[in-house]
Amino acid sequence: MSRNIGPSCRQCRREGVKLFLKGNRCLSQKCPMSENGKKKFPPGPISKRRKKTTDYSQQLREKQKVKRIYNLLEKQFRKYYKEADRQIGITGDNLVKILESRLDNIIYRMNFTASRNQARLLISHGHVSVNGRRVTIASYLVKPGDTVEIKDKSKRLNMVLESLKNQKSGTMTWLDVNIDKVQGKVIGLPEPQDVDVPMDMRHIVELYSK
Ligand code: SF4
Repeated sequence: MSRNIGPSCRQCRREGVKLFLKGNRCLSQKCPMSENGKKKFPPGPISKRRKKTTDYSQQLREKQKVKRIYNLLEKQFRKYYKEADRQIGITGDNLVKILESRLDNIIYRMNFTASRNQARLLISHGHVSVNGRRVTIASYLVKPGDTVEIKDKSKRLNMVLESLKNQKSGTMTWLDVNIDKVQGKVIGLPEPQDVDVPMDMRHIVELYSK
């Protein structure tokens, strides 16, 4: 299954929850899923909206939701699942940790960009360094103790300044962020309850372990 490049808001409406795919718009009243949003219903004809829910459909929806949040292809997501399953501990928790340690996610969590898509752009254009070395791969997995920084020349980019001004996601307890230096240190990796969008990893584990 290829990456979903359709309208972002449609993806949120499909999942019935805000996935925060469009940066600052997601925090405004323009968001169709906001409290006063006019499109808080799934896309498509009314006749097709009320489908019978089965265990399988629930599991599939949960997987699609998580893939959409992190903008991942099926192949890459399955690779992360296998790695999480191989590690010691609860597979679902391990999977959250792997997904959250992606460099594009870390940049977003540190509030250096308003969305993961913007973070990808920033990384691929060489504006980000990890432990002083430039990294251009969005899927790079950051470890506790790593320092992530926006390069000096890039700190004044509109995208970065706007995001720092809005401070969308508050402070993450597992990240130590220095806003003035546009730099942050990863002090640990999050548990599922630390993630803002509710994700039930049990469904995904059940789906893949069939
Ligand atoms: Fe669109 Fe709202 Fe989803 Fe953002 S959170 S992508 S604005 S529906």
